[in-house]
Amino acid sequence: MNLSLASRQPRRYRPFQRGNVQSAPFWGRLSPEVREAVSVVSTVLPFRTNEYVVRELIDWDTVPDDPIFQLTFPQRGMLAESDYERMAALVRSGASKAELEHAAGQVRRKLNPHPAGQATHNVPSLDGRRLEGIQHKYRETVLFFPAQGQTCHAYCSFCFRWPQFVDSGESRFENREIDVLIEYLRRNPQVTDVILTGGDPMVMRTSVLRQYVEPLLEADLPSLRTLRIGTKALSFWPARFVTDDDSEDLLRLFERVVRSGIHLAMMLHVSHPRELMTAIASEAVRRLRNSGATLFTQSPLIRHVNDDPAAWTRLWSDTVRLGITPYYMFVERNTGAKRYFELPLVEAHRIHQEAARQVSGLARTVRGPVMSAFAGKVEVLGPLEGAPEEALSLQFLQARDPERVYRPFRARLDLEATWFDELEPFAAEDEPFFE
Ligand SMILES: *Cc1c(COP(=O)(O)O)cnc(C)c1O
Ligand code: SF4
Repeated sequence: MNLSLASRQPRRYRPFQRGNVQSAPFWGRLSPEVREAVSVVSTVLPFRTNEYVVRELIDWDTVPDDPIFQLTFPQRGMLAESDYERMAALVRSGASKAELEHAAGQVRRKLNPHPAGQATHNVPSLDGRRLEGIQHKYRETVLFFPAQGQTCHAYCSFCFRWPQFVDSGESRFENREIDVLIEYLRRNPQVTDVILTGGDPMVMRTSVLRQYVEPLLEADLPSLRTLRIGTKALSFWPARFVTDDDSEDLLRLFERVVRSGIHLAMMLHVSHPRELMTAIASEAVRRLRNSGATLFTQSPLIRHVNDDPAAWTRLWSDTVRLGITPYYMFVERNTGAKRYFELPLVEAHRIHQEAARQVSGLARTVRGPVMSAFAGKVEVLGPLEGAPEEALSLQFLQARDPERVYRPFRARLDLEATWFDELEPFAAEDEPFFE
C-alpha cells in the first residue's frame, strides 16, 4: 500500500456518491448483490467517498470484506431487513425521486438521528439569543461548527453527523459568526479550548478557514489556550496538507496560530492503520508537525472495520512512530447504522485491553473504550469479578458536573449491552451516576 507522491495521488478532487457511483471505474468489479446494496442503502444513508480512498486505501481484491470498503460504502446490513426490502422494491420498480425520498425519510427517523440531545441540548445563549452552531457541554471546551465545514470527505453512517449530510434544511447545525463565539468566550473565561468541528473543517478552503481563525487570534483572549481542529482529511484526503493548491497557505495559517501562543491540536479521525501507510499520509504528518501543530488520534471501534486487537496495536504503534499521540478509542454511537457496526461493551473492553498490552507506554495514552453519551464521556474500565453477581466498572472522563469525573462506579454486567443507556446500576451507591 505504497505510492509515489507525484504519480499516483489524484490531483483533482473527485467524489463518488449515489448519483455517479454507477459510472465509476470500480463499479463493474462489484458483484450484483453488492451493487444492489450500494444502490438501495444509499437512498437512506448518506454516501460519499473519493478517488484517493478508492485508489489508494481499498484493496479491491478483498471487497466486500475490505475494511475501508466496509467503512466507506453502504452495506446491506446497515438497514433492518424489512426496511431494506421496502427500499429495494422501490428502487427495482423505478420509483420516483419523491417516492424514494418519502420512504427513506421514514426509515431514517427510526435510526436515532439526534443522539445525546445533539440538536437540542448544549446550545448556549448570549443575551437571551440561542447560539446555533455552538455547543458548550463541558466546562473547558466549546464546539464550533463553521457553516462551510459541515460536509465531509466521507459520510460514515455511524457518525452522529449523518443527518446533517442528508438534511439541507432545518436540522442543520452551523454558525458563520465567529464574532459571536469571540464574545461568548470573553464572557466565559473558564473555556480554554475551542474545537472546530463538522462535518470536517478541512473541507473548507484556506481562505474560508482563515475568516474564522484570524479573528480568533486577533481577539487575543487570555483564556484561550488551545484550538483543536477535528478532521478526517489526513486519512481520506491527505493532499489537503501536501498538494492542494492552498495547502501551503493552510500550513502558514497553522504556523500563525502557533506563533500567537495558542496550542493548535489536530484531532485526527483514523479508523484503520492502513490510512496512515501511504507515502502522502506520512508527508502530510511531517508537514503538519513542522507547522508546530500537535497531532492526536481519535478512533471509533467498528465491527467489520477494526474489531481486532491486531489492527489497534498496529494503529497505535504506527501513530506513535509518526509522532502522533493516541487520544480516544470511541465506542460506536447509538445512531445511524449502529446495528451493523456495534460491538458489546465487554468485547470493546477486551479489544482495547489486548491491544494496549502490546504497545509501549507512549501509546497507552489512549483513553477508551469511551462512550460519548448524554451524561458525559464514559470510559469502560472492564468487568469486575465477584460474588454474588458480576459488575462492569466504569468512570466518567467528562461530565457536565466535574464532580462526577474520575470516580469509578459500577453497572450490572451485561454481556450484550452496547451503550450506556442499556446499563443498570449495580448497587444503590452507583445510582447517582445513572441519573
Ligand atoms: C469530547 C467532547 C469534548 C472534548 O472533551 P475532551 O475530554 O476535552 O477531549 C467537548 N465537547 C463535547 C460535546 C465532546 O463530546
Ligand atoms: S465527521 Fe468523521 S465520522 Fe463523521 S462522517 Fe466525517 S469522517 Fe465520518
